[in-house]
Amino acid sequence: MKFALVTGGSRGIGKAICLEIAKQGYHVLINYRSNTEEAEDTLNQIKNNGGSGELMQFDVSNPEDIKTSLDNWKEKNPDSVIEVLINNAGIRKDALIVWMKDEDWKDVLNTNLDSFYYITKHLIQDMIVNKYGRIVNVVSLSGIKGLPGQTNYSAAKGGVIAASKALAQEVAKKNVTVNCVAPGFIKTDMTAELEEKDYKRMIPMNRFGNAEEVANVVSFLASPKASYITGEVISVNGGLYT
Ligand code: NAP
Repeated sequence: MKFALVTGGSRGIGKAICLEIAKQGYHVLINYRSNTEEAEDTLNQIKNNGGSGELMQFDVSNPEDIKTSLDNWKEKNPDSVIEVLINNAGIRKDALIVWMKDEDWKDVLNTNLDSFYYITKHLIQDMIVNKYGRIVNVVSLSGIKGLPGQTNYSAAKGGVIAASKALAQEVAKKNVTVNCVAPGFIKTDMTAELEEKDYKRMIPMNRFGNAEEVANVVSFLASPKASYITGEVISVNGGLYT
């Protein structure tokens, strides 16, 4: 059995990624923080499509929680390797910097950037030894061009992009690829309060994207077919200039 871990797999883009990755034959470890009902729904959808998976609850912003969960899994599956890692879980807490609370800076950096470091570091050893691995990080338009009101989020996503480019060069010889997918405006809970009609005029395709449109690109980069692509950032944003 081949294993893939998708963080933030209970809702939105992560849910769509879990469904696509499962279609590749992976047993999907569906991480989430608190929404067990939605995580179970992801698992049921995978099973209804003939795939397999399991829930793996931990808080990606908490290094001890990450370590405990991944160590426990490895203890139960000593001979198994998680060969695909999708770092997708993320939050935003927007404010102009003059109004930003210190905890909103830290929460966003911990959840979006530090999580990349702790989870990737934990799993990459096995990928290197196994001489195969696919890491895909879900970043954002905000991390490429910077968006006002999102200094914390732009810093976190920009940090993941730079770290991915560095890591890609560290592990390329071992057949481990590291890429990023940068969505623009995608219809999920994260953007639920944004009125599409107010924003769509600035998007060349004149609409928000949907989670499946992001998941298709992530799934490709996570597959053996993307064997000669690493250190890249692919935008999925309806033509927004970055
Ligand atoms: P979403 O609908 O709000 O879903 C967020 C997911 O992340 C949920 O599964 C949530 O789990 C999980 N999560 C959040 N904090 C977590 C934590 N500390 N530990 C574990 N899981 C956690 O978000 P989305 O729109 O799908 O976003 C997915 C990714 O795409 C994020 O990295 C986001 O920054 C990025 N992105 C989104 C957009 C967009 O327009 N939607 C644009 C650019 C980039 P629970 O269900 O348990 O809360």
